[in-house]
Parts: sequence; structure tokens; C-alpha cells
Amino acid sequence: MRDFLRDLGLSGVNSGAGARGWVENPGGDELTSLTPVTGEPIAKVRQADESDYETVIAAAQERFVEWRMRPAPIRGEVVRAIGNELRKHKRPLAKLVSWEMGKILSEGEGEVQEAIDIADFAVGLSRQLYGLTMHSERERHRMYEQWHPLGTIGIVTAFNFPVAVWAWNAMIAAVCGDTMVWKPSSKTPLCAIAVQNICNRVMKEYDCEGLFTLVVGRGSTIGEKLINDERIPLISATGSCRMGRRIGEAVARRLGRSLLELGGNNAVIVEADANLDMALRAIAFGAMGTTGQRCTSTRRIFLHKSIAKDFVERLVRAYESVPIGDPLEAGTLVGPMVDEGAIEDMMNALAQAKSEGAEILCGGGRVDRKGCFVQPTIVRARNDMKIVQEETFAPILYVMEYETLDEAIALQNGVRQGLSSSIFTSSMYSSERFLSHEGSDCGIANVNIGTSGAEIGGAFGGEKETGGGREAGSDSWKAYMRRQTNTLNWSTDLPLAQGVHFDI
Ligand code: NAD
Repeated sequence: MRDFLRDLGLSGVNSGAGARGWVENPGGDELTSLTPVTGEPIAKVRQADESDYETVIAAAQERFVEWRMRPAPIRGEVVRAIGNELRKHKRPLAKLVSWEMGKILSEGEGEVQEAIDIADFAVGLSRQLYGLTMHSERERHRMYEQWHPLGTIGIVTAFNFPVAVWAWNAMIAAVCGDTMVWKPSSKTPLCAIAVQNICNRVMKEYDCEGLFTLVVGRGSTIGEKLINDERIPLISATGSCRMGRRIGEAVARRLGRSLLELGGNNAVIVEADANLDMALRAIAFGAMGTTGQRCTSTRRIFLHKSIAKDFVERLVRAYESVPIGDPLEAGTLVGPMVDEGAIEDMMNALAQAKSEGAEILCGGGRVDRKGCFVQPTIVRARNDMKIVQEETFAPILYVMEYETLDEAIALQNGVRQGLSSSIFTSSMYSSERFLSHEGSDCGIANVNIGTSGAEIGGAFGGEKETGGGREAGSDSWKAYMRRQTNTLNWSTDLPLAQGVHFDI
């Protein structure tokens, strides 16, 4: 067994249900987690069945009644302890992320750092869950807002950020006074179990077991149970647009709340006056980093006609020399895709692109070695091609040209998704135009920075089919609480609002 698995308390067969400590021998099927680096099994997980789900929810609900009464700064102390444990286990956890999901170690470390950063942010937030005070129109009345905890919330996460996405939700929700049930992706159950092991230790020390709970199970069974559960006021779900549509509908049907973080189809515009060296590096990282499996990965680039030819040649050279290999080895920049299914999706997308008249400029195949390795691929395409309109979760970059900035912005906005966007330019006019109301329609719009790699301090999320949710920094915490408006009358009269009289 590898050292990092032992350090994180993972065994040959692990429980996939965390309630108050681990549920021993949950009743669901056994799930084997494979590393995409070699295709070998890493460890097994005994998944939760419906009765384990009930055990987990009961623990989270029981804890909520007590947890919500702890003052928010005291709740923050638990989150601080989780952050410190994540710091202590940063290296082994990062290695596990690389080994189970395939991203390179530096990105694995970045992911755990993001979880630590959001814990720090949440600790500060625990003293700042501010409500507004308004002036009442009535004499000797006071009107204000306060924010109360919501209850036990559901967190559904994607495979590509198997630690950080949980943390964006969980660290904030915990200081807001909620308890939570986490359903991770079945492609990365061990990362979730390693995190739950950390949480279990901290919860025991702070006497708050049931605050962070876990159910590993299929989306179609345990996932469906969670999203249809009327005891869960909020489902925060990260994943594909298809999954988001399903979850959004199910939660809306019971008039629950959903916070959706779905797929992107992110573009970079490169103007003729841009610093092309910077643009090239940003696009290379955005499109090839995490093997094209970030929600913010760069999928389309629009190059000004005057620079397109040379720029594409340089980009092709960069693609052809990028080190692909074991994500844990120093020097590797592109690791494997998550599994064989992901490679199949990529190859199908490339076949469709060709059938629609696109031209493959480099890459396009598998890498000849064991594991799920592919060649990052550049394709000359048109924005109106069906395949370009979709998010293929793979390192495929569609290259297109434009003549005017208006045309480039219209093309960048001309897809159903609206997550991340960027422009490279040295013109103040172009950058302001891009960031204005008539510019990018995405939740994230950057100037001289690529589409991928957001900081936690800002609210993260996207528009249109990306789902409209916002997580992480700024005032995203409000999604995890309920707002109450209070009006308090300290006069001896009973005036009605808007001057209405009702004298009996
Ligand atoms: P996915 O949609 O296949 O699965 C995401 C999660 O949803 C998994 O845990 C899955 O088990 C669960 N799920 C699926 N059907 C469900 C159902 N009916 N009920 C409850 N749960 C269900 O996505 P994936 O392949 O794991 O991740 C890749 C996708 O996630 C991409 O589209 C990517 O853009 C998106 N993503 C978005 C963000 C963001 O913040 N916008 C971040 C990361 C990933």
C-alpha cells in the first residue's frame, strides 16, 4: 500500500457511509476505485444503501438542532481545526487527488490549498454574517434583517475537484450553522473518505459528530433519494448541465432550493495588441491543465485575424512538446484523463468535429502507454458547429478567427453555457468593453488572465446553462442561510404601513 493511503487512514475496503463515525459494513454494492495512471485498483468502498442513508440523515438532523445554537464564531473554531488538519495532511491528500483523479501533483496541492483557503475565509466569515438595518417608515419602529441557519443541506460533487468543491460548500455552510450530507462522485470516493476521516477526528474533539456526513452511492439511487428528500432544504450540486437539469427540476418540484454549478464552454479572445507570450501561456494552461477537465478549462479561442497564423503555429509547438505522464512525477504537465469513458467521449467528439468539417491541427489520439492518457488536441473549427456548442470534458481546443471586437464578443457569448471568459489586450477600450454590460455574459470575466484558476475570495459560478449558482467568497454564504426580516414596534400605538387605517 502506498504511504499516502496509510497516512490518510484508507484501508483495503472502506465504509462509504459516515454518520457519527463510520457506519460499519454499509449495505450497498462494493465500488472499486481505480487509478487512471495505471488502471490498477487502489482500494474498495462499501457503498451506502437506503437504510444507511437514513442513518446518515438522522445523525445530521439531530446535530443540526444543537449546532445551530452554537454562536457562529464558536462554529468557526471547528472550521479552523478542519483547516489546520488539511494543512497537516496537504501532501498525502494532494497525492491521493493525483492518484485517484489524475491531475498533476502541483494542481493536487493547489486543490488542497484551496480547501485550506476557504476554511480560513469561513473562520473570518463566522464573525461577519451581517444583516442590514433599515429605517422604518413608522415612528418608534425598528426594522432589520437577520440570517438564520437553513438545516441539513445536501452537497453533490463532481470528480474533477474531489476535495475543493466539498470545501467551498462545507466550510461556509458549517459557520452558517447548517449540518450537511455529502454525496461525492463515484469516480473519486477515496478522496471523500480521506476528507471524512479528517472531519471525524475533528468532530470527535469538538463534540459535533453529525455535522459533516458522507454517503458514497450511485447518483441514480442515493443521489436521487437525496435530491427528492423534503428534509433537505438546499441541494448544492456541481456537475454537468445534464445532471443540473435533473437536480434543478427535482428540487424545484418540492419547492426546495438548489445551488447549481454546472458545465462551461469557456473562451479566450486574443486581440492584435495583446502580450502574446502571456496569452499563449494562459491558453496552454487553461486548455491542457487538468487534462482539460476543469469546469473553467479553455475550450474555444478567438484570435484576431492579423495574429492568428503565427499564434496557432506557436501553440501547436507548445502542444507537441508538453510532457505527458505520471502526474506524481516531477516535470509532468499533463496527467491522464479520469477514466476510459472520458477518453471515449473525447474520441467521439473529435469524430463528430471531423464530420462537421473541422480540421485537427495536432493531437487527436491516445498516448501509447498504460493508463488513460491522451494527446491534447487543437482543432480548427467554427463556433456554430454542434460539437463546439457542447462542453466536451477533455483537452480539445477549438481555434477560430475574428476581425472586429464586436464579432469576437458575440462569438464568445454565442453558446448556451456562461461560466468563464477572458480577453488578452493592452487596450483600455477593449478591456472595458469586454467587462461592460454589452461585453461578456459569463459569471467570470478576466482581462489578461486565462479562464481557469479562480481565487476563493470572489463569488464563483456562471450564467445560462451553467446554472446561476455562486459559491466560495464574497456574499455566497447567503445561499446557505434563510433571511428573516424583523420589524419591532416599541411605541404605544399600532400604525399600519403605507398609512392604511383600520380602526375598530
Ligand atoms: P456529473 O454530472 O457526471 O456528476 C456530478 C455529480 O452528480 C456526481 O456526484 C454524480 O454522482 C451526481 N449525480 C448524477 N446524477 C444525479 C442524480 N440524478 N441525482 C443526484 N446526483 C446525481 O459530472 P462529473 O463528470 O463528475 O463532472 C464534470 C462536470 O462538472 C463538467 O460538466 C464540469 O464543467 C462540471 N463542473 C462544474 C463546476 C462549476 O463550479 N461550475 C465545477 C466542477 C465541475
